[in-house]
Amino acid sequence: MRIVAAPLPGPGEQDIVEVVGRYTVLRPFGESQLRGACPFSRSQALRVRPAFGTFHCFRCGVGGDAGAFAVKITDVTNALPGPDQSL
Ligand SMILES: [Zn+2]
Repeated sequence: MRIVAAPLPGPGEQDIVEVVGRYTVLRPFGESQLRGACPFSRSQALRVRPAFGTFHCFRCGVGGDAGAFAVKITDVTNALPGPDQSL
């Protein structure tokens, strides 16, 4: 029985590429990474490593797993002024 190199997300885990891909376009970078525009610093410094399920931005220093990204992006979108926040 063979073990695949990149483990599939287990129950309760989210695919880092799918989560990050909702907010920015990811393109292949190197042999095992993806790169894209960081939603937080608006720079092309975002790197995603699908095999590890992690992301990292070299500009603003954010990083972590899919859950960490979801928390951070929620904070950012909540901070933006929206029609539902009008008083
Ligand atoms: Zn950034």
